[in-house]
Amino acid sequence: MPTPTILVIEDEPAQREIIRYNLEAEGFDVQQAENGDEALIQIKEAPPDLILLDWMLPGVSGIEICRQLKMSSATRAIPVIMLSAKSEEVDKVRGLETGADDYVTKPYSVIELVARVKSQFRRTRPAAVGERLEFMDITLDSETHRVARSGQEVKLGPTEFRLLSTFMEKPGRVWSREQLLDRVWGRDIYVDTRTVDVHIGRLRKALTIQGGSDPIRTVRGSGYALG
Ligand code: CA
Repeated sequence: MPTPTILVIEDEPAQREIIRYNLEAEGFDVQQAENGDEALIQIKEAPPDLILLDWMLPGVSGIEICRQLKMSSATRAIPVIMLSAKSEEVDKVRGLETGADDYVTKPYSVIELVARVKSQFRRTRPAAVGERLEFMDITLDSETHRVARSGQEVKLGPTEFRLLSTFMEKPGRVWSREQLLDRVWGRDIYVDTRTVDVHIGRLRKALTIQGGSDPIRTVRGSGYALG
């Protein structure tokens, strides 16, 4: 799987650095923003897979950023973990009312923070945090990179493996070719959309070579879906 990207929005450089260091050590890509305006531009240009959001920021507050993100259909699904120095219960409730997915009180333990991040990814990006995925008779182990169908090993190239991981994280979801390019090949690489069709063809062949129906559906005019 492509590495999930985490955006850390925090105005204190030392805090940002601790978080960045520890999340990178866990294999995540980390981007940083030191204020709300900068963060909102970054999110628009390249939406991250998760946001760590400090409550107290100069300019636009963390709460306001969270509210804006959760109001927009383009960013609503991005998990937001709020960081705050306030520990009162009422603040916690307010934090969650803004739509934040989780809430961590400063001073926090880095181990706890990383655990909360992984917990969000188990829900939204299970293959990226080493979960075993199942769909029909297909199993995918993202830690060992093994795929099997009806118990028989399926051999896949790295691109086909990433494609299948993406599909298996959200069975039934229709992915456009552009979305698959972003997720599987990465945003910075220029690849023709027809390349997606070529790799889908290879994935289909590998999945059906030992028999069984084709689990990948072509959605005319839209793209591809699993099941
Ligand atoms: Ca702050």
